Amino acid sequence: MPEAGNKKQVFSGVQPTGKLHLGNYIGALSQWVENQTRYDNIFCIVDLHALTIAEAVRPALLREKTREVAALYLACGVDPEKSIVFVQSHIPAHAELTWILNCVTTVGWIERMTQYKSKAAQVESVSTGLLDYPVLQAADILLYRTDLVPVGEDQKQHIELTADIAHRFNRLFGEAFVIPQPLLRAEGARIMGFDDPMTKMSKSRGEIQKGHAIGLLDSADTIREVILGAVTDSSMETHFDHASPAVRNLLTIYEVLSGRTRLEIEAHFEGKGYNYLKREVADVVINRLAPIRNRYLEINRDRAYLECILQRGAERAWTIAESTLRHVQELVGIGPWASRKTDCPPGNIGR
Ligand code: ATP
Ligand code: MG
Repeated sequence: MPEAGNKKQVFSGVQPTGKLHLGNYIGALSQWVENQTRYDNIFCIVDLHALTIAEAVRPALLREKTREVAALYLACGVDPEKSIVFVQSHIPAHAELTWILNCVTTVGWIERMTQYKSKAAQVESVSTGLLDYPVLQAADILLYRTDLVPVGEDQKQHIELTADIAHRFNRLFGEAFVIPQPLLRAEGARIMGFDDPMTKMSKSRGEIQKGHAIGLLDSADTIREVILGAVTDSSMETHFDHASPAVRNLLTIYEVLSGRTRLEIEAHFEGKGYNYLKREVADVVINRLAPIRNRYLEINRDRAYLECILQRGAERAWTIAESTLRHVQELVGIGPWASRKTDCPPGNIGR
């Protein structure tokens, strides 16, 4: 239980914006599960973040995706006995703390975020929510006194911003927040698209671009088709240090999923050609994802089970989030008069 232990606190989440892909698994979920007994863990489905591009929101689909992401957490090995799993919008404290943090965050800080710049370039009208998304993310993390945030490399800048916001708040109002740090994989922190090795594999792009990503629920045939169709080059180089970005991406996926050393991998693929490499990569991906897909189908058969997990998760998360928020409110001078109970006889208001 995060409240009781002296283990480090972990917090992380995924947006229910599309199909979870291999990059999400390698960069985030597989790390969560590998470290599950070492830390106290809170894993959130960050549905408020999925509203930042309003034109793309389909309300019924968003609810369904939220449930799908939660089921995938469990299917990937997140254990609700060891980790709190909940949906962000079930706890209003996230939005409340965001407002307070907005007031200690300079516009210059958030305008510098590279993810904001690249996402803003893809949409016609940029919402304030898209600009403010990293501050909501800071609130998510800071509410739970988080020490470590296991994420992909693309989120590193946001965690650094969170640390800056926490420092500034603590300096202006008093110690409220633990300063969090990102937890990144040494290899596989940024998996690239199979169609373009210069672009990070991402859910939003995977929805529109065939051959870009592998979904965690894709069939073995689809996985093989996407990997065999991956962009490569004509050099036939399979050494990590000399391979092109596209081939290095394939080697990295193989390295993380096979657990073999680089020397073994280089010896294994030496002189065998890219077709062989791709077939082997497809095999390790299929072997890893097949049990996840089966567990997902099983979990989905019992919708009430998942709802209970999420309800219990929200209750447990609520206790921690409320106590942080009340403390923050006290420090800035707002919120209910929790410590000064007054007896108000009924009917005397306005006299
Ligand atoms: P979107 O396109 O909607 O932003 P996304 O694929 O970037 O979707 P997120 O929900 O933003 O997914 O991120 C969930 C987690 O997965 C984060 O920890 C993020 O850093 C990680 N992640 C996302 N893409 C990759 C990737 N290509 N390689 C490694 N980690 C990734
Ligand atoms: Mg993202």
